Amino acid sequence: MTFNNLGLIQPILEALEEKGYTQPTPIQEQAIPILLKRRDLLGCAQTGTGKTAAFAIPIIQLIEQNKDDQAGKRKVKALVVTPTRELAIQIGENFTAYCKHTRLRNTVIFGGVKQGAQTNALRGGVDILVATPGRLLDLIQQGYITLKHIEYFVLDEADQMLDMGFIHDIKKILAKLPKERQSLFFSATMPKNIVALSREILGNYDKVTIQPEQATAERVEQAICYVAKKDKPALLVHLIHDKNPESTLVFSRTKHGADKIVRKLSKANITAAAIHGNKSQNQRQRALGDFKKGKLNVLVATDIAARGIDVSQLELVINYDLPNVAETYVHRIGRTGRASASGESISFCDIDEKAYLKDIQKLIGQHIPVIEDHPYPDDGTQLPSKPGSNQRNNNNRNRNKNNRHRNRSRNR
Ligand code: AMP
Repeated sequence: MTFNNLGLIQPILEALEEKGYTQPTPIQEQAIPILLKRRDLLGCAQTGTGKTAAFAIPIIQLIEQNKDDQAGKRKVKALVVTPTRELAIQIGENFTAYCKHTRLRNTVIFGGVKQGAQTNALRGGVDILVATPGRLLDLIQQGYITLKHIEYFVLDEADQMLDMGFIHDIKKILAKLPKERQSLFFSATMPKNIVALSREILGNYDKVTIQPEQATAERVEQAICYVAKKDKPALLVHLIHDKNPESTLVFSRTKHGADKIVRKLSKANITAAAIHGNKSQNQRQRALGDFKKGKLNVLVATDIAARGIDVSQLELVINYDLPNVAETYVHRIGRTGRASASGESISFCDIDEKAYLKDIQKLIGQHIPVIEDHPYPDDGTQLPSKPGSNQRNNNNRNRNKNNRHRNRSRNR
């Protein structure tokens, strides 16, 4: 199967060639023909599968083919709503690349930065808008955007959207959309509340399911290091020196922890930067940009980055802390091994985290191999951090299962 077989127009084929894409990924192969027929789509897929191009390409083609009907000032005809700023920027970059040889214009709006540049771009007229929910509603309220002319609506990462508490914002946005439109709904998981939301958005739809989460885990070479909490910084320094990867993404459970890791690495002459919710949007973008360009070899992130980051050829993911929600582990290691590439992940596990490891192995249906011969092995003498903390971990685990939203939000 080639992109030619999918009936794409020349300006898009040229852009794809320039991106170096030789053949469509499975989600592109399945979704593009459905969308070109103007059907609604329910996509069960996560980032890393080529999902963005799967929805961006047909939207661009349909607008480009109908552009002659649309005289006068450009109106926003396609709206993509996505939960995080990083994802919004990434999707915007993809649209820019695929639109390169068309006459369409796209822009991205998100919170945490001044709105001037965004409202200027909107004033100039855009065809395609990528937005996070809060800033979108804000700029609608201020009169910079109307959704009256939307023909294509994409709700991306719906499960994360609900985890982040955006349900009311989404409902407000839906109420402003024209009834007559083509709708696309993507989610990595499909629990009941997500299926219910999809029914509110989609008309008659086709469904595409790609890559159950376990498959991501199968592509990545994974390992566990049992290590005492106090030895984690030294083990991290050792691994980075020993493996000397071009790019390492380190996950920390907390913002404070991420900053601490950066300081420890700096003492060992390893330059790193942190991205998390307490950093300004400009700091976050600079750190992520440097990391993507290869100027920065080590990036330390909280889970805000777990789904958003797309670094081609990311070599190593280190879970400095194991996540307390098992699905988060899959999203984290999925930052490496993107599209068809393979990748490596190493997770540190201290005595307090063993219960989390058990949950993770159950979810992915794999036993993660243990690295025994590292210089800071946990000799089994360490005690849980506080008396009774094992019991507390178990209680926490149960609470987490019932209340993922609160835990995830707090960790961001
Ligand atoms: P996404 O799931 O949209 O985040 O895409 C994951 C990565 O795969 C991104 O780096 C894309 O640029 C890349 N990609 C998307 N489609 C293709 C393709 N057909 N061939 C090669 N790489 C692709």
